[in-house]
Amino acid sequence: MIIVMQAKATESHVQGVVHRIEDLGLRPHVSRGEFRTIIGAIGDESLLKPEFFAGMMGVESVMPIMKPYKLASRDFHSEDTIVKIGGCRIGGNAITVVAGPCSIESEAQLRETALAVREAGASILRGGAFKPRTSPYTFQGLGEEGLKMLQAIGGEVGLPTVTEITDVRDLDLVARYADILQVGARNMQNFRLLAEVGRLSKPVLLKRSPAATIEELLMSAEYILSEGNHQVVLCERGVRGFDKATRYLLDLSAVPVIQGVSHLPIIVDPSHATGQRDLVAPMALAAIAAGAHGIMVEVHPHPDKAMSDGPQQLTPEAFKVMMQGLRPIAEAVGRCLQGAKATT
Ligand code: PEP
Ligand code: MN
Repeated sequence: MIIVMQAKATESHVQGVVHRIEDLGLRPHVSRGEFRTIIGAIGDESLLKPEFFAGMMGVESVMPIMKPYKLASRDFHSEDTIVKIGGCRIGGNAITVVAGPCSIESEAQLRETALAVREAGASILRGGAFKPRTSPYTFQGLGEEGLKMLQAIGGEVGLPTVTEITDVRDLDLVARYADILQVGARNMQNFRLLAEVGRLSKPVLLKRSPAATIEELLMSAEYILSEGNHQVVLCERGVRGFDKATRYLLDLSAVPVIQGVSHLPIIVDPSHATGQRDLVAPMALAAIAAGAHGIMVEVHPHPDKAMSDGPQQLTPEAFKVMMQGLRPIAEAVGRCLQGAKATT
């Protein structure tokens, strides 16, 4: 339920509503907009009736939120959320490009990739240290050794970093080294993991499961938000289709659908969605045209020798060409590509 306060409501009116929500055993969430303060009552809505609040001082209106997700909903927070990582932003008017290898393989591989993607205009460095793979017999990532390389090289090149957390037991470890924690497609409904990252104060990149509906993705975001972490970025990375021509079916319509119902930023990963290098740039451009707040792309100096996802990783040269194509599209949709070299 959301309680919209009158423009002239005072702080003590707001606190009155907050205390009433707490007395009813729910959690208040105060969102102060430019013109209005909106207070959400989070928890079991069956305990609430609009008349509990309607007559209170400073209250303008009381509305149930019909959607199952509340904090993730635009009804609750009408302005776009902008997630900030140091000087880098994801959301609002900015286009943010996350790039780097699928897996961190060595210091030399990561450094070469990091320098190239920064030069071409990426603003966040990605790299997997714990690799969820379909087969247990394939490379599983360098673990902590890889995390150390990511932190060191991110620092060296001046880019914030993102890496995947696959197990709740690695939470402290991954949070110590990375700026953004990625919850991968396979863990999108690992609710214990979602709740744990929700208790941290680090941004979370939440990828859509190939079998999840948009509503299920937003419900997973709600798990993180409801624990108090409001720095959530969503990522569309393709859903399971019937056509083997691409690895997954990139659901670009998820971008405007999500932007209509949620204030959370949404980026697109054309690498995992298509699984094919030659399809990455066209779908990256299409994602920006569809209004995505950014993209995440895999880049490797020698994709043919990559220890994971070789066929979909771009060479640094191909990444640069893609970035050149991206700028006019970003401008055409009234967006601004951020990044160290974004204006060149
Ligand atoms: C990744 O981004 O490294 C990854 C494994 O992607 P996904 O979880 O979307 O499969
Ligand atoms: Mn990969």
